[in-house]
Amino acid sequence: MTKYIFITGGVLSGLGKGIVAASTGMLLLRSGYSVTAIKIDPYLNVDAGTMSPYAHGEVFVTEDGGETDMDIGHYERFLGYNLSKKNNITSGQIYLSVISKERRGDYLGQCVQVIPHVVNEIKNRIKEITKEYNVDIAVIEIGGTVGDIEGLPFLEAARQMRFEEGDKNVFYIHVALAPVLPSGELKTKPVQHSVQELRRIGIIPDAIIVRSSKWLDSEARYKISLYGNVPLQAVYSNPDMPNPYKVPLVLHEQGFTKYIVGKLGLDYREPDLSSWAEFVNRLDNPVKSIKVGMIGKYTKIRDSYVSIIEALRHAAAWNRVKVELIWVEATDIENNSEMLKSIGDEIDGAIILPGFGVRGAEGKITAIQYFREREKPVLGICFGMQLMIVEFARNAVGLHGANSTEIDPNTPHPVIDLLPEQRDIKEIGGTLRLGALKILIKPGTLAWRIYSSTEVYERHRHRYGVNQKYIDMLEEAGMQISGFSEEGFAEIVELKNSKQFYLGTQAHPEFKSKPLSPSPIYMYFIQHLASKI
Ligand code: GLN
Repeated sequence: MTKYIFITGGVLSGLGKGIVAASTGMLLLRSGYSVTAIKIDPYLNVDAGTMSPYAHGEVFVTEDGGETDMDIGHYERFLGYNLSKKNNITSGQIYLSVISKERRGDYLGQCVQVIPHVVNEIKNRIKEITKEYNVDIAVIEIGGTVGDIEGLPFLEAARQMRFEEGDKNVFYIHVALAPVLPSGELKTKPVQHSVQELRRIGIIPDAIIVRSSKWLDSEARYKISLYGNVPLQAVYSNPDMPNPYKVPLVLHEQGFTKYIVGKLGLDYREPDLSSWAEFVNRLDNPVKSIKVGMIGKYTKIRDSYVSIIEALRHAAAWNRVKVELIWVEATDIENNSEMLKSIGDEIDGAIILPGFGVRGAEGKITAIQYFREREKPVLGICFGMQLMIVEFARNAVGLHGANSTEIDPNTPHPVIDLLPEQRDIKEIGGTLRLGALKILIKPGTLAWRIYSSTEVYERHRHRYGVNQKYIDMLEEAGMQISGFSEEGFAEIVELKNSKQFYLGTQAHPEFKSKPLSPSPIYMYFIQHLASKI
């Protein structure tokens, strides 16, 4: 019998509910149970692909080419295995399916309504995924905050599932914020109110996880227990932590795993957290420090690049270094070229971040030229790699005005152009070149040394690519295409006969990086920077 653990949020969004869901799954997995994790997003977009990172943080890409909520990335990193795009359910998908069933005549004679039809569709989706994976436990995080109108059908589905599956098979965890006033006093009232709101909907939480800037004292814990109607031992403190990978360890130490397993009627087995604890310990105890320039355009919202930040952390831990990120808004470089000198002096290496559209592109190109000419280590990811090509074409090959047609459709030298398969595409949603695709690596190159293999799979998310007409010209001027797609497109670029770390990849290797199996590219990059100081 499958067990379902629902995770809801109260008071505010952005409380790290995704990390709690990921931690819950990880603790149960390491206790020897098979687990999957599902994220529910109550918005009407079918997937996260059409949203700006400003609106909803990074768009995460799964092996099977899903453009999902970034919480799927947290789940993969904590569970240590890949999930499918099916693990991200949105209201858009649910309504699309209900409406097409209605058109097909599946509900003939009925008035189609949110209850029961939409709610049934939600329950069926959750059960189908769980059945397909054949897991012992499914952790299901309901996005947003209790009280949001659009979340109601999902909460109703969660409520009905306890009724239908039985008390022993469904567990509710509520994550809420206890703010700390400037006086230092921790307030529990918002937590109490959000639990009341949940009860009004018919869900009585089994455990409450309290996010706060500090640990709960016994009085706060008692209040939350009494007014939240959960036993004292089911109130857990989740204080702010710079290292999110510590969250499962902190929850486990408070008896969280044992409590859930007991309530679900499962046997308790002590989870094996040794390798995880070693990773956390290494991350917290670096022996040297390096600075990485992050050249992008969504730098004010760090969630836009969460997988890159995490991939750097994984690499940092295993190289025993602290990686300090120096955020550089590419548009600022466009208005102030002096800036590059001070940035260049400060950082040990730079990452040219992925992105879309015109804004900030010229700033990135200027930065690439500056770093290339001064042999500063540069790693270009996706759009970053495309702009490395543009820069090289302009300044090393001498193709004046070279550009990507995404930035300048009338460029005389379209060195980056729409991929041929993209030319007839009319709809934007879900049509980029997506998911894990094979890259063939040229022996003897930097890419080959990084991967120690001639064939790798990395995840992609792009519509444009290197125009094959220019490959010979680029190579003659000293660029080396070291990785190709199966269709023969440039996937990885570097410099010929150069000691400089200069590498651009059309893929997003960060999406596959996990704490216990870091991405080879990020590992090598950090190792290289650390070896120079
Ligand atoms: N905008 C570029 C493209 O569509 C790069 C996308 C990205 O960086 N993910 O090809």
